[in-house]
This record gives sequence, structure tokens and C-alpha cells, in this order.
Amino acid sequence: MWLLLLGVFAARAGLCLEPAEQLARDILEQLVDVNTADSAANVTAASEAMAKRLRDAGFPDADIHVDGDDPRFKNLVVRYRGSDTAKPMLLVAHLDVVEALRSDWSLDPFHFLEKDGYFYGRGTVDDKAEAACWIANLIRYKQEGFVPSGDIIVALTSGEESGEHNGVEWLVRNHRDWIDAGLALNEGGDGAIRNGQKVANYVQASEKIYYSVELKATNPGGHSSVPRNDNAIYELAGALLRVSRHQFPAELNPVTQTYFERTGKIGKGKIAAAMRKIAKHPHNRRAIKTLSADAHENAMLRTTCVATRLAAGHADNALPQTATALVNCRILPEDKPDEVLRSLREVVNDPKVEVTAVTKPRIAPASPLTPEFMQAVEQTTNEIWPGVPVIPTMSTGATDGRALREIGIPCYGLSGFFLDEDDNREHGRDERIPVQSFFDGQKFLYLLVKRLSS
Ligand SMILES: [Zn+2]
Repeated sequence: MWLLLLGVFAARAGLCLEPAEQLARDILEQLVDVNTADSAANVTAASEAMAKRLRDAGFPDADIHVDGDDPRFKNLVVRYRGSDTAKPMLLVAHLDVVEALRSDWSLDPFHFLEKDGYFYGRGTVDDKAEAACWIANLIRYKQEGFVPSGDIIVALTSGEESGEHNGVEWLVRNHRDWIDAGLALNEGGDGAIRNGQKVANYVQASEKIYYSVELKATNPGGHSSVPRNDNAIYELAGALLRVSRHQFPAELNPVTQTYFERTGKIGKGKIAAAMRKIAKHPHNRRAIKTLSADAHENAMLRTTCVATRLAAGHADNALPQTATALVNCRILPEDKPDEVLRSLREVVNDPKVEVTAVTKPRIAPASPLTPEFMQAVEQTTNEIWPGVPVIPTMSTGATDGRALREIGIPCYGLSGFFLDEDDNREHGRDERIPVQSFFDGQKFLYLLVKRLSS
């Protein structure tokens, strides 16, 4: 009896784990202990450590690549051979992490620590947890003799957070054959815990298009003691005010329609009611107005353009000769960047203010929510967390999934790691993941990949 009880307590404290869980925990610890922030230039050490584990587990050298555009920022790609009846599946996670300063944290960010039911350290959520699960699960498939229908490829990459060495882009350009797949899974969707309850398992299926525009007013200038009637700063300020008042039309796509429908069902209050309404009636004006007042839902609903930089003038006592502003747009995947530019010109409506694009938009289609894929995610979610809905989302920011979607590989961001909505520490201090969420996520990814490749 005592022994039995002891066993239960030990399991809760993380001391008595299944072999697969122990392996994932060991890998996570190993990865967190390597500082892979851009400034440390040490991603290769993490890739090499994973390559060694794979070789020790019996993966042939020929199926393991450690390579990249810089000796310090190498990526790891490993291929687990399937029966070749289906296209390969690609499992992606990034090894690099956001910078972390010891002085900002209450703990050492680059030392893995288990405390009070959490794993602490930079990367425990973003994105070393998923990297550790991909490797641990791949080793487990091999140990179990599982033969997937198509090859399973794991790519652990560099440069997602910052720096010049984006591994996914590099692989797409230089070694497409290593990563070519019919389907990719990546970070970008987590589970949500609200008031202690698991409320949703999110799947990121598309993202907005990043596009920047410059507004520029010029003027001959002169002495500020003799102001002219026209003034570059005033003209630019007027143009920016008009941009700030402009709202692009609200539009739904299949991903956001399902997002609003299902998110509306798990929430309470005005916003949730508006979500349910708009999912049925995309042009309902009251629902659009309510959702537009919320920064996040507004960004899900429409293309947005916002001023992010401003520069003008060259001396305290001179009339400004140039005034420029950068306006950063996040465009719905269905909208055309050229049309957004044309709209901005119309809104600015001043021949003295030039409006020009400064970034080349990269357009990646939304990944389709096919019944086959969604059912696999829903069944797996239901097995582990009965009743928790799967909710597709569109990222308002940009992720590595874009580079894969661009070349025609449908990519879905998911993890099954449930995190408290009010305690998101990604990119922040004392980053942590609940121990139970980590192991549940590992199980979810293990079952899902198996289901998708059986
Ligand atoms: Zn990340």
C-alpha cells in the first residue's frame, strides 16, 4: 500500500516516468541547457546533440543531416523511412530561442529546472518542448518497429526568432529534397487553459501577409523663422491621421469563420456572442463593430495597416524637407497587397505625399482544413482531452510555416501543450511549461503523427 502510494506520488513529482516520457524530458533538459539565442551562435551544438541521440538509437548516418549556411547555425534533418505508399510528413521545430538576460530572470534561463510542477528555462515552451517531443517520439517509433505509410522527416532549425540564419528558408532553397513532404506540422498552435479548464486545442492553418509601405512628404524647406504655407510634417501628419481612421473591410475565410464559430462557443459575454453571430452572418454590422473594438479579434477580421516609424526634419531652425513614416500592414491571405497599396493611396489622397511599398510581399495560401486532417486532430484531441474542441486559427504575425506553404506544403501549427491563457511567458521572463502539459502534448503528437501516417 505504502509502496503503491509512493509510486503515485513519485509519478506526480516526475520521478517515475514512462521510458518515452523520461526520454523526452532528458532531451528537453539537454536542449534548454544549450544557449541557442542568436548572440550565443551555438545552434550547431544542439543539432549535433540530437544527431548523436539518433545515431545511438540506430538511425543510419545517411538519413541524418547536420548542415546550414553557417557553421555555428546548423540545422538537423532526419528521415525515418516509411513504406513509401504515401508522401512524407515533415515535423518542424526551431532550436533557436529568444534572447534572455540572467538579470531579468529569477532563475538561470539556460539551466533546465523542474520546480512545483513546471519545467523552467528559455525554450521550455518556444520551441524546445516540441523539438524534444519530435525526437523522442521518432526514437520511440523506431523502437516499436512502427512503419509509417510515408517517411517521417524531423527538421530542427535555426534562426526562427532572429538573426540571419533561418533554417527553414535555407532548407527550402538549398535542400528541398531533404524536406519535401505532403504535409508539415510546426509550432504555432497550443492548447488553452482558462480558469483552470482546458477550453481549446488550437491549430494554426494560415497567416497574414507582412507588407510595409512608406509615406513620404517632401518640401523645398527654408528658414523656420519664415514658415511657408506648405509643410512636409503637417502633410504627413494629415495623411497619417487619415490612415489611422481608415478601416479595411471585415472579411471571413474558412479558417477564421471556423475560428469565430468555435471560439464563440467556449466564451462568454459580448465578444463571444458577436463571434457566434459573425460566424453565421459575416456581414452583421453589430457583430463586426463589437469584434473590431477588440485588438486581437479586429486583427483576425480584417487587413490592418498601422504607423510604426516616423522621421522628419534635419534641424531645429529649418523647415522640414522630408518627412517619412513607415506603415506596417498585415494583410488577410485573400487580399491583394497591390490593392491594399491602392487603397492607402486613396486614403492618403494628397499628391504631395508619396505612398510606396518597401517590402516585397510573400504570399502563402492557407492550408486547407481537410476533413481527413481535421478528423485526425479531433479524434486524437478527444482521446486525451474528451470534449475539448479543436479550433483552427490564422496567425496575425508571421511564422516559419509561411516558407513551407509558399512552396505548396500544407503546414499546420499545433502542439497539444496546454498553457494558461493568463500566464503566457513565451519570449518573457521565467519561461515555463507545466510538466503535465509537456507529457500530454508529447502523447498527443505521438498519436497524431501515427494516425496521420498509418
Ligand atoms: Zn517559436
